[in-house]
Amino acid sequence: MRVVKTGADLRQVLDEYTAAGCRRVLVPTMGALHHGHLELVRHARMTAGPGGTVIVSIFVNPIQFDRANDLDAYPRPVESDLEKCLAAAVDVVFLPEVAAMYHADRSVTVAESLLSKGLCGASRPGHFDGVCTVVLKLFLLSGCDAAVFGEKDFQQLAIIRRMVRDLDVPVEILECPTVRESDGLAMSSRNVRLNARQRADAPRIHRALAAAGKLAHADEILAAARAEIEASPFARIDYLELVDAQTLQPVTDLHQPAVLAAAVFYGEVRLIDHVAVPARKPPHTTTHAMSCD
Ligand code: AMP
Repeated sequence: MRVVKTGADLRQVLDEYTAAGCRRVLVPTMGALHHGHLELVRHARMTAGPGGTVIVSIFVNPIQFDRANDLDAYPRPVESDLEKCLAAAVDVVFLPEVAAMYHADRSVTVAESLLSKGLCGASRPGHFDGVCTVVLKLFLLSGCDAAVFGEKDFQQLAIIRRMVRDLDVPVEILECPTVRESDGLAMSSRNVRLNARQRADAPRIHRALAAAGKLAHADEILAAARAEIEASPFARIDYLELVDAQTLQPVTDLHQPAVLAAAVFYGEVRLIDHVAVPARKPPHTTTHAMSCD
């Protein structure tokens, strides 16, 4: 496994590595790797095939953070991340410093203007511009054929798909389901920042969403999920929304597939999760056979 720190080194190493006709598959991360990330790597390894190259980028991207304390507190266990990458048969780790990614006077940003307006985009201004910018840079620096993302960040995934479509970026976007702890909490690099009581309480987010998502009507779904999360002495809802699965716009009925999504603060730590809410069939209309005799 090679560890490289600049774009120029990445290109050079990848040119040596990738055999003709084989795929380069990228897994972009911010490190503090857990089993969720490693599932993405496993998927990348399978997709790349024996002659292909799996690249993991580890970069805590400052321009996608809206709170300085969140950026400062973000865990950075580089040595153990590298050990995990080695064990997962990663070929190349891209581990740039901020100065290797951004010019001090940088002035170009990739901005998505529709799907990024609600949910996390509304509570974290500029976040998705930062995500789109760094992801496009990572695509260009690695020259990857495909990249793997987690469904856990479903808004991010939708926005990246939109960026790739709208800008004709020649990268196939692959996705992996959310990996959870045994108590249902979605794995996240931020979970290590929860104290013991917050950690014990946090599975309530998924419990609330999963139970409420089975109810029949949009208003009762939102009310039930809110009641369960607000029953916690530790949790503070940032947002709780039922949105159309395609447009990410809020919905008040379930004629189309929807997503029930929440962001919840435990102290300074903000956790996100969501469940799919399938479209409800309209009530069956009984037609009585007409007798014509
Ligand atoms: P992050 O390091 O948090 O920026 O995440 C890097 C990638 O890992 C993103 O595509 C995330 O959606 C994905 N990811 C994070 N947590 C999970 C999880 N619990 N299950 C599946 N994918 C995840």
